[in-house]
Amino acid sequence: MAKLPQSRVRVLIVEDEANLAEMLAMGLRYEGFEVTCAADGSQALGTARSFDPQVVVLDVMLPQIDGWSVCQRLRRPGRVILMLTARDDVDDRVRGLDLGADDYLVKPFAFRELLARIRAQLRHLHREQSDRLEFGPVRLDRCTHQVRGAAGPVELTPREYDLLELFLTHPRQVLSKDQILDRVWGQGYFGDHNVVEVYVGYLRQKLGDRDHLLIQTVRGFGYRLGQ
Ligand code: CA
Repeated sequence: MAKLPQSRVRVLIVEDEANLAEMLAMGLRYEGFEVTCAADGSQALGTARSFDPQVVVLDVMLPQIDGWSVCQRLRRPGRVILMLTARDDVDDRVRGLDLGADDYLVKPFAFRELLARIRAQLRHLHREQSDRLEFGPVRLDRCTHQVRGAAGPVELTPREYDLLELFLTHPRQVLSKDQILDRVWGQGYFGDHNVVEVYVGYLRQKLGDRDHLLIQTVRGFGYRLGQ
């Protein structure tokens, strides 16, 4: 068999409804993805070790280990996790995002919606892995660690830099304070949300974001870079 010029993106579908899993697998294969299915949580964890998927489509309601625990255990940098849930519930959504899911779809959904979300997340991932990040007047160079704002070069502390990098790799996406704490301060950090507010304040000040238009506050949830 001739070798493919580019390795295909590997997608793991974790879904116990066999018909739905098969339908999604067929559609994704047709779109050029390499697809493997798992019917429950423990099978998903085992398959993920050997298959090493870049994308996981993960149903919340699974026998044995639920989707939330699977999500926590499968999350890692460079992997996209898209959760499927049966109800449009803000708690479910926030919980999934806090546990490291990248996006979330409510059943029933159209296949093309799933495809669009996967592609959008892969574009994010690509952006996350590039050396130069920019948004509006802000530029961040990951090689030199130099940052520029509208008024010229900006000096940031390492923590401020990490926070800005997180925002720049997730433009226009709402990030909860828990997510920010987790990604910037690490999972072992047991401080409260105030530290996030304080550092967002420092960043706004250094980037000249007086009106909070660059880093916007999403009341009751967190922050978002841009509209
Ligand atoms: Ca299910």
